[in-house]
Amino acid sequence: MLKVLGPCVHSNKLTVYSQKVFHSPPFNLQTHQQNRTYKQMDSFKWLLNKAYVNGKWISAENGKTFEVTNPATGEVLGSVPDMNGSDTESAIKTAYVAFQSWKERTAKERSEIMLRWTNLCNVHKEDLAKLITMENGKPLKDSMAELSYGVGFLELYAEEAKRVYGDIIPTNAKSRRLLVLKQPIGVCGMITPWNFPHAMITRKAAAAIAAGCSVVIKPAEDTPLSALALCQLAEEAGLPAGVLNVVTVSRDNAPDVGRTLCESPLVQHISFTGSSAVGKCLLSQSASTVKKTAMELGGNAPFLVFESADLEAAVKGVIACKFRCSGQTCVSANRIYVQEGIYDKFVARFAEEMDNELRTGDGLQPGTTQGPLINQRAVQKIDSFVQDAIQHGARLVRGGSKGQGNFYYPTLLSEVTSQMMCAREEIFGPIAGVLRFKTEDEAVIMANDTQWGLAGYLFSRDLSQIWRVTERLEAGIVGVNEGVVPCPEVPLGGWKESGLGREGGRYGIEEFLELKYVCMGGL
Ligand code: ADP
Repeated sequence: MLKVLGPCVHSNKLTVYSQKVFHSPPFNLQTHQQNRTYKQMDSFKWLLNKAYVNGKWISAENGKTFEVTNPATGEVLGSVPDMNGSDTESAIKTAYVAFQSWKERTAKERSEIMLRWTNLCNVHKEDLAKLITMENGKPLKDSMAELSYGVGFLELYAEEAKRVYGDIIPTNAKSRRLLVLKQPIGVCGMITPWNFPHAMITRKAAAAIAAGCSVVIKPAEDTPLSALALCQLAEEAGLPAGVLNVVTVSRDNAPDVGRTLCESPLVQHISFTGSSAVGKCLLSQSASTVKKTAMELGGNAPFLVFESADLEAAVKGVIACKFRCSGQTCVSANRIYVQEGIYDKFVARFAEEMDNELRTGDGLQPGTTQGPLINQRAVQKIDSFVQDAIQHGARLVRGGSKGQGNFYYPTLLSEVTSQMMCAREEIFGPIAGVLRFKTEDEAVIMANDTQWGLAGYLFSRDLSQIWRVTERLEAGIVGVNEGVVPCPEVPLGGWKESGLGREGGRYGIEEFLELKYVCMGGL
């Protein structure tokens, strides 16, 4: 087993954590290039460089394509159509036609198709997970966890389809009755990120489709294959043509396609998960047609460890929260605040646990816990955060260096301060920066001192403190003595600039419903 943690620094002196392992590449590129393309997977032989619109596998109108690569090896996995605004307009028209009949289906019919879709995803779970690992790089174990999470949304919304209840409101006059109907909003445009190539699609699309809407999805350019795999399984499950459409789009064409979705009068809802900058741009574009939007944008999650905490539970929690998917999740701990009385002990145990638990390598290798970052842009950004922190007085405890290709070694920095880039901006990578605090008040003020408010975490065994801090944290998601909290059943979304609306649970389907007040008179 490879054990790769990169250089390690104790007391500001650079020492090598393990000479032998540090000089090994994270894995052997040669051996891993065999038998690796998704085309060789039994489940996905059909993935033939096409997008999926109106129940058909199609090319871009102009025939252009772009390549999808494995971030662990740089290997080209395949090509997909590079669609533009014009291709997207055709997909929207198709979705509009399909919506007219899909919304007329009974909830039970929609539910049955979605349950078949759920079952097919479960049957092909292993291949779907491999596909995620190949295009995203995350370890197979994390991909399997994403599959359970993602398929969980299909199952949940198959059931929720049957629970879209309206209301009867007590009347204000004997001759009339007051009712509220809930009806599907229409065609929904969805733009998804690369960090959960499967689950960010099911979390949105399953809710919309269950509600009776049709969807046009633009997956991230790094990870379109998982989206296409979902289309094949939806088709096998009997989802009618045009209800689920995926347009594959390069980074260059993303603005054109985004604008087309946001400005189309046929699209009634825009759902986006990604960076705050792009989210704000889509919001302003959606204003022209007064669209309903759901946005899950950047995070800058505080992770508070109080002296009253179970230290071992906090260390395990921070490892899971920070290093899951190499720190590339919107809810990853971004600023780890530890109370001064346990600060040194916490940092020492954190470092030990990183040595014990984290293994960098190809995600398909058994035992790997840390895959590559998604691309070189991400590697450069992470490295600049580490250099900035060190320059401003942080202590490098573990990692702090680039590996081969898109790899960056898991990094632990202590003596981080609020002014450093890694505490001000969303890291989205495997850097854990630990800050120090004295009092509960100080911790809460620092935790809330950001324009973001997606997730927050606290570790404490003092029940009064747990309630006080939970209620004061300005975040849409709070983990108390837990480092990994998202699941299909709950509302997920952010406060402040972290977003609008909620996905997940019974709240998620509400996004895709319109209320209609009906006054029935003359009774
Ligand atoms: P990241 O930098 O992590 O890729 P982004 O917010 O840029 O995060 O990307 C999230 C999704 O938004 C991806 O599907 C990407 O292609 C898409 N995207 C990026 N820029 C635009 C844009 N100007 N308009 C519409 N979609 C965009």
